[in-house]
Amino acid sequence: MESLDQENFGGYDAYFINELLNEHECPVCKMALREPIQTQCGHRLCLSCANEIRKRNKGVLVCPLDNSILNSSKIFADVAIERVIMQLKVKCSYFSNGCEWTGELKILNDHLGSCEYQTLKCSNIPCSTSLLRKKLKEHMEKLCIYRLVSCQYCKQKIMFSEKKIHEENCECLPLCCVNQCGMKIMRKEMSSHITDSCANTIIPCQYLNIGCKLKIYFEKHKTFWQSLNESLFFTNWLSLLV
Ligand SMILES: [Zn+2]
Ligand SMILES: [Zn+2]
Ligand SMILES: [Zn+2]
Ligand SMILES: [Zn+2]
Ligand SMILES: [Zn+2]
Ligand SMILES: [Zn+2]
Repeated sequence: MESLDQENFGGYDAYFINELLNEHECPVCKMALREPIQTQCGHRLCLSCANEIRKRNKGVLVCPLDNSILNSSKIFADVAIERVIMQLKVKCSYFSNGCEWTGELKILNDHLGSCEYQTLKCSNIPCSTSLLRKKLKEHMEKLCIYRLVSCQYCKQKIMFSEKKIHEENCECLPLCCVNQCGMKIMRKEMSSHITDSCANTIIPCQYLNIGCKLKIYFEKHKTFWQSLNESLFFTNWLSLLV
């Protein structure tokens, strides 16, 4: 049968420990019967396989073994066979990866949900690594170059592979003041530090508008004028300028 959805069609494709008996195998999909039905001619099919035959025969269900036309009202769910099949012993679907689990078919799905030997894809985008479940956690949290880590300066979440470049250019990276005042200033605050508070910034005298060409360090600015104000010299000097 071509192009069938394996998830919704056919029987159980499990690794049975003992060879499947004929009576447990669907003649259509050749797998262990899933939701088996029994026909009036005494044959068994998976429910989904029967539905597929009906669909392909314009609504008519024909037995695949003897071609008899089947009456839907005379078909019943074979619960007894279903119970036997669900109790058959199977290996884990990932036994080729090393899993040694075996158990009844009915609990296989529970096991698969947590099987350490299942191959899973790392979910850190765009990582394409596939690993056994038991190794995935360590990969995703400690080894994957696409895992998210925090920038030590701005605390933003960034990809590990971009951490170095980000931190070198981070707005919050502390840099030595470009005026060499000895302070460490965040990159984004450097320009306001220079204009507003750096002790080494040289600014024009506040009396520039009346002609003073003096330029002094920001820090010394206040004390310079305080001391000048108090001196007689200051008054005389100002009068020379005006
Ligand atoms: Zn089938
Ligand atoms: Zn038949
Ligand atoms: Zn397993
Ligand atoms: Zn990864
Ligand atoms: Zn940062
Ligand atoms: Zn400074």
